[in-house]
Amino acid sequence: MGGRRPGRVVISEAELEARVAELGRAIARDYAGREPVLVGVLQGAFVFMADLVRAIPIDLATDFVGLQSYEGGAKSSGQVRLVSDLSLPIADRHVLIVEDVVDTGLTLEYLRRNLEARRPRSVRVCVLADKAACRQVPAALDYVGFTIPDVYVVGYGFDYQGFYRNLPYVAALEGG
Ligand code: 5GP
Repeated sequence: MGGRRPGRVVISEAELEARVAELGRAIARDYAGREPVLVGVLQGAFVFMADLVRAIPIDLATDFVGLQSYEGGAKSSGQVRLVSDLSLPIADRHVLIVEDVVDTGLTLEYLRRNLEARRPRSVRVCVLADKAACRQVPAALDYVGFTIPDVYVVGYGFDYQGFYRNLPYVAALEGG
């Protein structure tokens, strides 16, 4: 892993637990009786999604999409493609996208357009970590866990070269 390792804790386990519970309560209040479909973005959102759904005590469905950014830039190139699609139709459903992080906003806007073309009743977004200072395109975020600085983070679903997703907290990647 090139000597790069998790360092300073950016979001602790206790902070994650408390904030996910708050988000769950807000989502349950807003979506009561609407049977939303929560769409998790693989792979990064799988840990957040698993905790979040257990904090939302209403009827809901879950599904996942896999997205891949084309290589070719230091950061997100904005060239995104769907590598794994939903298994459920979402026409007429209330969709809540569950993302790990919004950085430039390019990935999220691609996904929003893609899902909106299927004529859902509504599309909103819940993101664990907002790197608000990095935005290249506007991104409307309805539920935000934490606003974090422009540091590369690992843990709680975030990886570095496929590793560290299993850490129970979010840390800055350091060294190397
Ligand atoms: P975008 O720049 O399109 O908003 O975000 C693209 C993707 O970059 C995110 O979905 C995520 O996969 C990845 N990404 C952005 N910042 C980080 C980070 O700090 N750590 C990790 N592991 N991935 C990140």
